Amino acid sequence: MVAIDILVFSGFGVNTYILSDENGDCIIVDPACHSKKEKQELIDFIEKDELTPLKIINTHTHVDHILGNRFLADKYNLVPESHKNGQLFLEIAVEMGYRFGMVVDDPPKKVKFIDEKNKIKAGNIELEVLYTPGHADGSICLLSRDEKFVIAGDVLFNGSIGRTDLLTGNMEVLRDSIKTKLFTLPDDFIVYPGHGPETTIGSEKLNNPFLKD
Ligand SMILES: [Zn+2]
Ligand SMILES: [Zn+2]
Repeated sequence: MVAIDILVFSGFGVNTYILSDENGDCIIVDPACHSKKEKQELIDFIEKDELTPLKIINTHTHVDHILGNRFLADKYNLVPESHKNGQLFLEIAVEMGYRFGMVVDDPPKKVKFIDEKNKIKAGNIELEVLYTPGHADGSICLLSRDEKFVIAGDVLFNGSIGRTDLLTGNMEVLRDSIKTKLFTLPDDFIVYPGHGPETTIGSEKLNNPFLKD
């Protein structure tokens, strides 16, 4: 059984997911804590539940999703993992931060690349990787077939889809990613997006106005 906890961080309102098993082994997806207070909030959460962070995974490397990468990687001696096609965004993260009026930590020195051929394992947590570009190159979704959930980053939201007006965004590619990778999953799978409330595959198939045809 995987427990899923969510902390919402930064002015961007990014969902940081903490997946943990019954032994306290955990994976942190998109650590978006930015201020000192937010970083402490994440640490307090980890310590309160006596969790052992084993992996940091980024659904994609837009600056809002990697704000806490360096801090968390240094704290727990971990190497954040993301898709290699998002490498450009790691390189320009600090500059992007300035554009949004934020001082952003340098990304961690090391990064590990993952793609669809990798199975992510930490303790008793197992996730498949789906490559789902269109919002940003290097976007992945993290899937648990046993637990019937998918962490979707900024690919699919409750009632919306990721924006495609940023660097490497492409509406056609995004819709194709959703239709061929996510909408082939069973309707009862829960979707945990990068921003906003959770939803299900079935509900988005039925109601999402961006995916009607
Ligand atoms: Zn994004
Ligand atoms: Zn985002």
